[in-house]
Amino acid sequence: MSHYTLVIHGGAGTISKSNINAEQESAYCDALGKALEAGFSCLKNDGTALDAVRAAVVSLEDCILFNAGKGSVFGKDGRQEMDASIMDGKTLMAGAVAAVRNIRNPVELAYTIMTKSQHVMLNGSGAYEFAVQQGLAIEPDDYFFSQFRYDQWKEIQGTNNAALDHNVSVRDKKFGTVGAVALDKHGNIAAATSTGGMTNKQFGRIGDSPIIGAGTYANNKTCAISCTGHGEPFIRAVTAYDVSCLMEYKEFSLSEAMHVVVHDKLLKIDGEGGMIGVDTQGNAAMVFNSEGMYRGMMNAEGKKEILIYK
Ligand code: ASP
Repeated sequence: MSHYTLVIHGGAGTISKSNINAEQESAYCDALGKALEAGFSCLKNDGTALDAVRAAVVSLEDCILFNAGKGSVFGKDGRQEMDASIMDGKTLMAGAVAAVRNIRNPVELAYTIMTKSQHVMLNGSGAYEFAVQQGLAIEPDDYFFSQFRYDQWKEIQGTNNAALDHNVSVRDKKFGTVGAVALDKHGNIAAATSTGGMTNKQFGRIGDSPIIGAGTYANNKTCAISCTGHGEPFIRAVTAYDVSCLMEYKEFSLSEAMHVVVHDKLLKIDGEGGMIGVDTQGNAAMVFNSEGMYRGMMNAEGKKEILIYK
């Protein structure tokens, strides 16, 4: 019996029942459901884990509710810069893109860098030029604009604070970075993450999401992980790879390793956020130390969950 599984997240942060109304809650659940279907149908039809995480992340990037692709947060200069990465657990190949503008689907650019270039990571104008060469979809600034994110930015514009998109104290404080991890019918795993980063960030700031080992990691020997949260501590803790190391060198289970990293190691350095993970046995986990995390999973046994709060 194959245990193919897909897990997704739409960001972690100050997400609680008291700051989401019923209409917003159902919009988020619908969007998460759509992304799950997009990725899971790939797995069901014999597709690879890589294709499944791409499909799920593209669906979330295209949804204005999440802080990735369309609807990304605004940086200090009033513009959006996005980061994304993808990793194949079978080959340990990876692709990443940092601080890019106007790329419709940064995860597709990360995938194209992995499959069509000799590099792992491209940033800024070099990444843009490569995207154009490869015929990826480019959109004008307006495409990425959303009023609620603009209002979030306005609230802290002019300060030196950079905030997790959900933590800005405006009415709508519940939008997030996106990610997916999957196990396919062939026993291979993959992970992908995409984000607009943090509101009011310095332009050129790069978070954990595009850094292989920090925000994203996949290795058939251990696990596939996608993180969300305050990027700087996640980079310093080499978060995603640490989960893999605890499994490889200390023989922790996926869930044990994720709990130690999220509730102990990250908390000790004020690392607020969470992560999703899957292993080659089809074990899946969604762990966070913040108030909530948009998340969902589906597996071959017919289990389907879409959750927001603790
Ligand atoms: N980790 C992302 C970053 O720091 C933000 C997030 O997950 O919401 O760029």
